[in-house]
Amino acid sequence: MVKINENYLKLPGSYLFSEVARRIRVYQEAHPQAEIIKLSIGDVTRPLVPAVTSAMRAAVDEMGTAEGFRGYGPEQGYEFLREAIAQGDYAARGVAVQPGEIFVSDGAKSDCGNIGDIFGVDNVVAVCDPVYPVYVDTNAMAGRAGEYQEELGKWNRLVYMPCVEANGFAPEPPEDIPDIIYLCSPNNPTGAVMTKDQLKVWVDYANAHGSVILYDSAYEAFITSGNVPHTIFEVEGARTCAIEFRSFSKTAGFTGSRCAYTVVPMELERGGAKLNALWNRRQCTKFNGVPYVVQRGAAAVYTPEGRAQIMANIDYYRANAKVIREGLSAAGLACFGGVDAPYIWLKTPGGAGSWEFFDRVLAEANVATTPGAGFGPSGEGYIRLTAFGGAEATKAAVERVCNMFR
Ligand code: PLP
Repeated sequence: MVKINENYLKLPGSYLFSEVARRIRVYQEAHPQAEIIKLSIGDVTRPLVPAVTSAMRAAVDEMGTAEGFRGYGPEQGYEFLREAIAQGDYAARGVAVQPGEIFVSDGAKSDCGNIGDIFGVDNVVAVCDPVYPVYVDTNAMAGRAGEYQEELGKWNRLVYMPCVEANGFAPEPPEDIPDIIYLCSPNNPTGAVMTKDQLKVWVDYANAHGSVILYDSAYEAFITSGNVPHTIFEVEGARTCAIEFRSFSKTAGFTGSRCAYTVVPMELERGGAKLNALWNRRQCTKFNGVPYVVQRGAAAVYTPEGRAQIMANIDYYRANAKVIREGLSAAGLACFGGVDAPYIWLKTPGGAGSWEFFDRVLAEANVATTPGAGFGPSGEGYIRLTAFGGAEATKAAVERVCNMFR
């Protein structure tokens, strides 16, 4: 008789976004006239930029010729893209990352989840609270999280690092020293960022304890503040303790096209092994690469036209973030994030619970948000709003929410 992975049975009921979608659906069915504006799920709405689509089109044409056809590509990504990333995202910032340290993939979500394959089950894992749920759930699936404690909303073997108003939503090194530390800056869901000095504390901590930092900078393109590093490798010492995840999803609208990458420095060794070699082995065994057409599109992001065009889209979302942040603040609501990130973290007024406030905003303003409690216990009392909608819809949504408090 087959035995299933029983860790899956320990996962709590529904995934956050499915529950949000369910509640929106139920409300819409009961109120067919309601025009709901979604500031909830973090998907982009701006189309792919012309530089990307023309590169993709040219690649499709190439694939239709005997000379240009390509079958399986390198599992790590084509050299042209790895080179463009090394130059465009690192050398341009004065950071040395070699193409051989870059692994192109179909998503930061997959990479954040799959990276656990190269680490033992007995490692102690630390996550921010609140947190992007993928880090928690994938460790739970692998058996690294222990048992889920319903009443606390926590797994008993994970170390939770509260990111709350009192610490500026920045994780602090915990007393129980973790082996694996997930950091995310700019942060989903709080929109907070870590400065170079704050990151340096983590890098020194990880190097001192032999831990590994899994650094997710999927929202790096949204950084505007000068003291916030765009990559953890701007911090001295990071090459011996950090793995970085990046994505074209939010940077260039690739949520539906799928392209991302992970950087594993050659110097990063644990247990006598180079993690770069382990990740390479894992990817070569379980992954067959990103489509050539998609990688050509991603490479176009690094051309001068591509860069200018994607930055225009980022500016569009940044303007939305400003509308949300400033509009809600003017209505007397406490808002965080939204400066270096596409997420605004709103404190629910009057101490309302996240889901209670979610339901209220949905019913009174017909605006869908994401309840902070869904990202971890310290997210209780907050909701997350995203800047990825259309400009007009975002303005209308802010106006409606503000009206609730006038
Ligand atoms: N990392 C964070 C923090 C995210 O919020 C998301 C998507 O919402 C991802 C990774 C997923 O990125 P990708 O589309 O590349 O899988």
